[in-house]
Amino acid sequence: MPIYEYQAKSEDASCDFCRAGFERLQKLADAAVLACPQCSHPVRRVISAPNVQSSSTDALKPKNVEKHGFTQYRKVGKGKYEKTAGKGPKKISA
Ligand SMILES: [Zn+2]
Repeated sequence: MPIYEYQAKSEDASCDFCRAGFERLQKLADAAVLACPQCSHPVRRVISAPNVQSSSTDALKPKNVEKHGFTQYRKVGKGKYEKTAGKGPKKISA
């Protein structure tokens, strides 16, 4: 199954989770994730295939630079997240 990456559509309407981007393992037939599972703000799928040339200069935008320092978290309790990958803080609590 492919892993899709999602990110907040707007930094103004996002939480730490979707602002940094998150990944979802999905079947091809699965519907795209439309909202952040944490804050319910709209997210978009990030196309990260290295050989796809974007029509704009997307690669230089902060959201793409951020991707290189991507940090992933898993939920360990109500409003609490523990880091599973990346360089971010070890734990996040609401
Ligand atoms: Zn969010």
